[in-house]
Amino acid sequence: MRLIMMGPPGAGKGTQADIVCSDKSIPHISTGDIFRANVTQGTALGIEAKRYMDAGEYVPDGVTNAMVRDRLAQADCANGFLLDGYPRTIEQVGELDSMLAAQGAGIDAVVELTVDIDEVVQRLVKRAADQGRADDTEEVIRRRLEVFAEQTAPLTSLYASRGILTQVSGMGDVADVTARIHAVLNSSA
Ligand code: ADP
Repeated sequence: MRLIMMGPPGAGKGTQADIVCSDKSIPHISTGDIFRANVTQGTALGIEAKRYMDAGEYVPDGVTNAMVRDRLAQADCANGFLLDGYPRTIEQVGELDSMLAAQGAGIDAVVELTVDIDEVVQRLVKRAADQGRADDTEEVIRRRLEVFAEQTAPLTSLYASRGILTQVSGMGDVADVTARIHAVLNSSA
């Protein structure tokens, strides 16, 4: 199964993606996690990405696309994967399409977690306190939500027009959201 998990910052993509991936035995590919690991390790990629991440901006498409291309070429992705946080721009969608077309594959389902903005801001502020992420300050959170609305929200209608998008409410308990996602994936499988 080749899946995409979409949704605004703080929607709970990472948490739900972990659960889906262990259930389906597919790798969880989070571009945010890969960038953060590179920042921690001080790689050239991490040094470049950090400038953008700390400001709440997207890392340039060229950098992100190359990173995802490398990751999807690894053996564990041959039979499926879940992308969390990618694609986020129209250009990234085009790149992903061509990466998959080269393998004769396509995306099976896109799950979009929907949440209300007040809830998201509260969650992110709480995460800042719990995890101390550099991009979880209130000013940067606001910018990340703006960038999402400008650049990533339009992807929803694009995937909807391909007939593979399902919107799932991300409100409520983790287990409730998981149950909704399972219902969607098991009915389309
Ligand atoms: P969130 O979606 O909660 O803001 P992520 O952990 O998914 O957090 O991503 C953190 C940061 O990593 C983003 O704000 C952005 O700077 C960078 N990033 C992650 N994925 C992408 C992507 N597909 N394109 C560009 N930048 C990305």
